[in-house]
Parts: sequence; structure tokens; C-alpha cells
Amino acid sequence: MPFDFIPEERRLTQPEELLTYSYDATDHRGRPGLVLRPVSREEVVEIVKEAHETGTPIVPRGAGTSLSGGPVPADGAVVLDLTLMDRVREVREGDRLVTVEPGVVYAELNRHLEEYGLFFPPDPGSGSVCTIGGMVAANSSGIRAVKYGTTRDYVARLEVVLADGRVIETGTYARKSSSGYDLTGFFVGSEGTLGVFTEVTLRLLPKPTHYAAARLAFDGPGDAAEAVGRIIASGLEPAVLEFMDRNTLRTVEEYTGLGLPDAGGVLLIEMDGFDDGVEDSLKQAIELAGAGEVETATPREELWKARKAALPSLARRAPGLVLEDVTVPISRLPEMLQGIEEIAGEYGIAIATFGHAGDGNLHPTFLVEERDRNLEAALERLFSHALALGGTLSGEHGIGLEKKGYMDLEHRGSLELMKAIKRELDPGGILNPGKVF
Ligand SMILES: Cc1cc2nc3c(=O)[nH]c(=O)nc-3n(C[C@H](O)[C@H](O)[C@H](O)COP(=O)(O)OP(=O)(O)OC[C@H]3O[C@@H](n4cnc5c(N)ncnc54)[C@H](O)[C@@H]3O)c2cc1C
Repeated sequence: MPFDFIPEERRLTQPEELLTYSYDATDHRGRPGLVLRPVSREEVVEIVKEAHETGTPIVPRGAGTSLSGGPVPADGAVVLDLTLMDRVREVREGDRLVTVEPGVVYAELNRHLEEYGLFFPPDPGSGSVCTIGGMVAANSSGIRAVKYGTTRDYVARLEVVLADGRVIETGTYARKSSSGYDLTGFFVGSEGTLGVFTEVTLRLLPKPTHYAAARLAFDGPGDAAEAVGRIIASGLEPAVLEFMDRNTLRTVEEYTGLGLPDAGGVLLIEMDGFDDGVEDSLKQAIELAGAGEVETATPREELWKARKAALPSLARRAPGLVLEDVTVPISRLPEMLQGIEEIAGEYGIAIATFGHAGDGNLHPTFLVEERDRNLEAALERLFSHALALGGTLSGEHGIGLEKKGYMDLEHRGSLELMKAIKRELDPGGILNPGKVF
């Protein structure tokens, strides 16, 4: 029997067990042939070696919350469920580093780090369940990326099992290094196609102690986008600067009754730091923004409820929705939002847009019942518009299955180099086949 060195209770074969590994948070589906749940690097190595020898496709998987189809298996593939490898191995407090297994959940890691006064900042919306391995593989981020950057900025060192079962270590525990090519950065964002991460060392930051937040309402989305430009250009450093358009606000209000304004656009802003200076910074940002209506009285957790409810509320309104992830330079946000409105009108599709405006990352959400040609044409227009503005197809969700058809629009010449690297590292094409390209 294949992979029989993995004990039966961690070797899933029943149809109802396999079904739970057939999807992620998109509408893509695939039927795995087998699910293996390793508990150690040694088991991962043995699995990958056997897969290599037998030409069996393997799909690494964390919590399966991807919004790109990344962990959806090719039919018959072996899913490598890494969630049982969930130990925090070592906190090096003085070096501000933590070494973890790939299945550690983001929120649990930060809970663990509280006693050290440290944190790992990226904060994806799925942080209560998604794994560090999945975050590194997708280069995930979230509402705090405007100040703190993405997962890539925090990965110091990786242990990677390559497609033939060899184990390599990349990076360093030192603060800096000019030693050779940056292989760590190269594996970050590789979406399970170049290797399986079995250990991750992350850089950490001191956790802020003071926060101040506000909700700013504007007449139109363009006014909100221009306010973002002024705040960022001023040198103020918001920890969060989120946007919601009228469609999103109305849908969230319908489902939550939070008492949100019926505005053309809303910004949610938060300053963080280590003293009361955060209040002054917030005041300065509010003055620069010039919003029609400002709400600061509510506890900040109440303000965040609306943003956290955005995707769930839209998904209840349109269960077949398609959520995109285009990202543009901050100065081009007004044009991106204008383009989205035009696409909605031209293709007759309701689009609700929210996202991380502070770093130019928008989630235009196409409220459709199913995919059809009209939707595909509208998506191509969306991507072309973002790229024409100097942007990218994906700010944080990755390419997976969802956007692989558009990669040549963005990468042109360098796409061939990416494919050559994949062939060199995985000549048999067994690691997460069919993703990214
Ligand atoms: C409600 C909701 C909100 C979200 N909000 C955000 C957000 O704010 N920001 C954001 O960036 N994303 C967001 N996401 C998307 C998703 O949660 C993130 O991409 C997350 O980091 C994926 O982690 P995961 O453990 O679920 O990985 P999975 O979905 O299981 O896998 C993701 C990719 O990583 C690969 N992979 C997983 N583990 C490994 C490993 N150990 N070695 C090699 N490859 C591996 C998989 O093959 C796959 O390609 C959201 C998703 C949902 C459902």
C-alpha cells in the first residue's frame, strides 16, 4: 500500500474524509486520492521521497483558507495536511525571533508571544485559523501591512523539503546577511510548488501598548482614496487604513445593523504606538483627511466589527461571489476605484469594493451567482486596468488556480524564468501541479 509507513489514523482514505480536503475558500474543487497527516519533518521527507519515486502529485495544505485555489488538489493527488505539525519550537526573546512548525495557527502564535511583549504583525482576516506555513507560502498579509509589511518581511529562515526529498535550510538567525542569493525570499510566496516548509523562523516586533482609531465617511470613493494619499504622503504612519465603498457598507449594514453611515466611501484608521502620542497622530490624520463625518467615540473594537463583517456579509448576499485582490501604487487608487465603477457599469455586474487602501490593495468583489464569459471579460478588464496603473494581480491572496490564466499579462519575459526555476527544482512536476502557471 502506498505511504503505508504513515499510521492508519493519519492516513485518510474514506470519501467523506477526502471531501473535506477537496476545496478552499474559493469555488474551485478537486478530489484528492489520499490525505496524509505527518507529525514530523522525517515523515514529510519519506512521503516526498516516495511521491518523487512514484511520480505522485502532492499538495501541501495548512488550514485550507486560501482565496486563490492554492491548496485545492489536482484530482487523485495526495494532500499533505501539515496542521498536526503545530509546535512553537523556540522563542529567542533577545533576538526577537520565533521558530515554529508550519501548522502553528497565526492567532495562537501571537497569544503565545504575549508573555514576551512581542508579536508577528501581518494579521490576515483569517488569522484565527490560518497557519504560518500557509501564510509563508502565499506571502499573506492583512490590515496592518500598511505599517508593518507582509509575511515576507518577517521570514528569517526556512527549512524546506525539496521535490526529491532533500532538506535544505535557507536564511539566517542573524539580523542581516549579504551572503549569496536570497533563497528565503524566493521560497516565500511559492504556493507549495517549489518545496514543503517544515520549519519557519520569524522576526518579531515589540507589541504596541496604545491604540487610537476612527471611522471617516466621505461623499464618494474617490474622496476617500485622495484622503489616503494625503495621509500617507504626510509621513504619518497609520497601522491600519481600510476602505469600504457604498455597496459594501449597505450590505454590512443590512446583515449586522451596526448603524453605519450611508456614505460613498468610508476609511477606518488606526494609529498604534507606545504612548499617548497615538491620539495626536490620529487627530492630524483626521484633519488631513477632511472627511464629512468622523466617528471616534465608539470603542475601536466596535469600529472593526464592520470591516470584519465585510466578506461574510457579501458572501451571504451572493454565495457565488468572486473576490479579487488587485493592488496599485497608492497615488493611483482614485483611478483604480474609478475603473472598478466603470467595469461594473459596462458589464452589468454589481461590484462591492473594500480593502487595505493604505497599501493600495483593494478587494473588488463581483457579486455574481456563477462564473460566465461576461465575468471572465470583466475580470480581464480589471487586471489590465490594475497593471496599466503600475499594479499587480494579487497583493496577498496569491495566484493558485484563480489567476494563473492572467500571469502573462503581468510578468511577460520573467514568466519563462519562473517556469525554468520550477522545472529545475521539480522536474517531475509533483509539487502542487497546475498552480501559479
Ligand atoms: C475570511 C477570510 C479572510 C482572509 N483574509 C485574508 C487577509 O486579510 N490577507 C491575506 O493575505 N489572506 C487572507 N485570506 C486568505 C488565506 O486565509 C491566507 O492566504 C492564509 O495565509 C492561508 O493559510 P492556510 O493555512 O489556510 O493555507 P492553505 O489555504 O491551506 O494553503 C495556502 C497555500 O499555501 C501552500 N502551503 C500551505 N502550507 C504549506 C507548507 N507548509 N509548505 C509549502 N506550502 C504550503 C498550499 O499549497 C497553498 O498553495 C482570507 C481567507 C478567508 C477565508
